[in-house]
Amino acid sequence: MTQNNFQEALRDPVFESLHKAAKELNVTCYVIGGFVRDYLLKRGTAKDIDIVVVGSGIELARKVASLLPSKPKVSVFKNFGTAMLKFDDIELEFVGARKESYHRNSRKPIVENGTLEDDQNRRDFTINALALSLNETDFGDLIDPFNGVLDLENKIIKTPLEPTITYSDDPLRMMRAIRFASQLNFQIATPSLDAITSNKERIKIISNERIVDELHKILASPKPSIAFALLHETGLLSFILPELVALQGIEEIEGQRHKDNFWHTLEVVDNICKTTDNLWLRWAALLHDIGKAPTKKFQKKIGWTFHGHEFQGSKMVYKIFKRLRLPLNDKMKFVQKMVLLSSRPIILSEDFTTDSAVRRLIFDAGDHVEDLMTLCEADITTKNTKKQKKYKNNFNIVRQKIQEVEERDHIRNFQPPISGEEIMKTFNLKPSKEIGTIKEAIKEAILDGQIPNEYKSARVFMLQKGKELGLSQD
Ligand code: ATP
Ligand code: MG
Repeated sequence: MTQNNFQEALRDPVFESLHKAAKELNVTCYVIGGFVRDYLLKRGTAKDIDIVVVGSGIELARKVASLLPSKPKVSVFKNFGTAMLKFDDIELEFVGARKESYHRNSRKPIVENGTLEDDQNRRDFTINALALSLNETDFGDLIDPFNGVLDLENKIIKTPLEPTITYSDDPLRMMRAIRFASQLNFQIATPSLDAITSNKERIKIISNERIVDELHKILASPKPSIAFALLHETGLLSFILPELVALQGIEEIEGQRHKDNFWHTLEVVDNICKTTDNLWLRWAALLHDIGKAPTKKFQKKIGWTFHGHEFQGSKMVYKIFKRLRLPLNDKMKFVQKMVLLSSRPIILSEDFTTDSAVRRLIFDAGDHVEDLMTLCEADITTKNTKKQKKYKNNFNIVRQKIQEVEERDHIRNFQPPISGEEIMKTFNLKPSKEIGTIKEAIKEAILDGQIPNEYKSARVFMLQKGKELGLSQD
């Protein structure tokens, strides 16, 4: 690339205000990092814009705010010497140019004021160290001391300084390198990849929240397998999700082999990313087979089995979410449910599908039955095109059946047609076990198709059930 002025990237009026403010304060300032990178990659203009000031970031932020028509509030983070303000849908982050040096046990550096060059040196990757001048004499000029533009063209991630030191100083950069590789479909330069491998243990000083942030970004990228393969290759994955690493490998006994469930899982994740943006469903795809490592057995005549892996897996979801400090709320319950039910539609699609099996699936999956079908379709990774066609076709049949049965029987948000109160009144019962027994029997009869899901039939069934239990009517 020969061009080195990018005024057209700075057309937004906010840059004019930045320029004016810096001039008034007699400091120099630059747009740096993600905004410049994404502009040059034609990924659109980012809405979070990082500004580096040779001087005080906080003072410049205050000056800019005073020049903007909306007079936005400035949030100041004194400890970090940074400030932030919002203008329309743009978020401006200000930082004073700095020089950093690190202690071994912390990713918090010792900070001194520095030049633009010092500040570019402390950036994680050459493609993230690109700066555009906002100053009078060279407005729009690109300052690219590490040939970041060339690395953008060659789709390469590398560090401005020596990689081993860069990653050791702040091990979060290892996750960031891998995340960018996945988001941008870039290669990590070999010396960087080697440095990540040799520094992998240092990931231990990074908080789970930071790691999860990166995992979310990886899972939101178009092809997360790029990142998970790199996490695996560098050994980082063993520190983050050892349960996934345990799925890797193929064993053979008596000529029988099972598939490699790690690489299978990555394929499933890539598949599901083509059909859903739901982050938690993508998590479910990532974790859907984790129960297979602890349940794996070889049985004579039968071969490899993973009995109960769905149940085991759903229990592991809780442990993983707790360990990584992921939310232990309805999102986790959703992932657990998807893992627990992940084989059900497959069984349905292989067998002759009865209405009652479909009703039970709808009952168990509730509002998430569509998501479950999406997961199961992504789970088809066979390379045999004939089989693939067959499975896909069978899933279509199951989807159709689900729709038909649901329209008729309304199982999705099942409400018992007879309340516990009515049962108590009818048989003159105090709160007791019998009420639950009768309620359960009514539900079972509906799911089995013995009676339709409606009040009248359920009442007749209840009276008969009461009789069987030797209850007298009031
Ligand atoms: P995105 O916002 O799309 O995730 P980004 O590159 O803007 O990408 P941010 O986390 O917003 O990433 O960081 C802004 C800039 O700060 C980066 O471009 C990089 O120059 C620098 N940076 C962020 N984190 C680090 C780090 N851990 N080490 C060194 N530099 C960093
Ligand atoms: Mg950013």
